Amino acid sequence: MLKTECDHAEQIVEGVEPKAAVCETCGIEGPLRMCATCGYVGCCESKNSHDTDHWQETGHAIIMRMPLNADSFTYCYEHKDYLK
Ligand SMILES: [Zn+2]
Ligand SMILES: [Zn+2]
Ligand SMILES: [Zn+2]
Repeated sequence: MLKTECDHAEQIVEGVEPKAAVCETCGIEGPLRMCATCGYVGCCESKNSHDTDHWQETGHAIIMRMPLNADSFTYCYEHKDYLK
């Protein structure tokens, strides 16, 4: 479901690739999220929430679920909703 009022979708960089295969901050192997703006890889809320830290530090609100595939969701932290 596309949340059309999300104005953070413009932060998504086409073709961005994950910078690492593990959390760049703590090295944990998953579950992981990738920043859709700069490719930072961080662990999710069920671990150490480094993806959330990245958002709060940089303002990069859009993340994608790792590994990237057809089932990967895209999520906006600011709006707390899925883009697709
Ligand atoms: Zn948003
Ligand atoms: Zn981490
Ligand atoms: Zn980022």
